[in-house]
Amino acid sequence: MLTLEVLIKSLYNMQKSMEENKQFLTDLDAKIGDGDHGINMNKGFQAVKKKLDEDTFESCDQVLKSVAMTLISTVGGASGPLYGTAFLKAAGGVSGKNISNEELIGSFKKAIEGIQMRGKAVKGEKTMLDALMPALEALESSIDGNKTIVEALEAAVNAAEEGVEYTKTIIASKGRASYLGERTLGHQDPGATSSYLLIKALYETLKEG
Ligand code: ADP
Ligand code: MG
Repeated sequence: MLTLEVLIKSLYNMQKSMEENKQFLTDLDAKIGDGDHGINMNKGFQAVKKKLDEDTFESCDQVLKSVAMTLISTVGGASGPLYGTAFLKAAGGVSGKNISNEELIGSFKKAIEGIQMRGKAVKGEKTMLDALMPALEALESSIDGNKTIVEALEAAVNAAEEGVEYTKTIIASKGRASYLGERTLGHQDPGATSSYLLIKALYETLKEG
C-alpha cells in the first residue's frame, strides 16, 4: 500500500532525481535527439515541486492530476505531454488517501496505455515504454507472487534498468531519435532512462518508509 504522504514524498524525490540527472539526461538526448530531455524534465519537476509546496492535497488522484497538468503545461518537447498523460491516466486509477497494490498496478497500466494512446509507440521502438512496460510486468508478477510492495518495486526498478540497457541494442522508430535511424544503435534512450529514474525514486521512497 502507498499513502498520500508517501506519494507526495516520492514526487519530491523524483524532482531531486531529475535535478541531479539533468546533465546526464541532456547528454543522452544530445547523442540521439536535440539535447533537451534533462532540461525539460528538470523544468517540469521544478514546477511540480512548487505546486507541492504551495497547495494542499486531499487525495492521491488530486495530487496526480496536479502533477499531470503541471507537466503538460511546463515541459516542452515530446516527453511533457507523454508524461503528463501518464500521470493523468494514473490519477484515474486511484482515489482517497491510500493506494492499494492492486490500484498501483492498475494505474501504472493506465499510465502506459495513456502514453501509447498519445505517442502511438509499442515496445521495442526505443522509447520510455521500453523501461515502463517491463517494469509493470515485474511489478505485477511480484505482487502476484506475494512479494511485498518494496520487493515488487525493487524488481520493477531492475526490470526498467534492463529495459534501458535493451534500448542500446535497438533502432529508434518513434520521436526525434527516429530521424537518426541506425545511428541510434549503441545509445540508451533518454526517455527510458528518465522513466527508470522516476520508478527508482518511488522505490527508494517506499524503502525508506
Ligand atoms: P523531444 O524529443 O521533443 O526533444 P524530449 O527530449 O524531452 O522531447 O524527450 C525525448 C524522449 O521522449 C525519447 O527519449 C523517448 O523516450 C520519448 N518519446 C518520444 N516519442 C515518443 C513516443 N511516440 N512514445 C513514447 N515515448 C516517446
Ligand atoms: Mg529532446
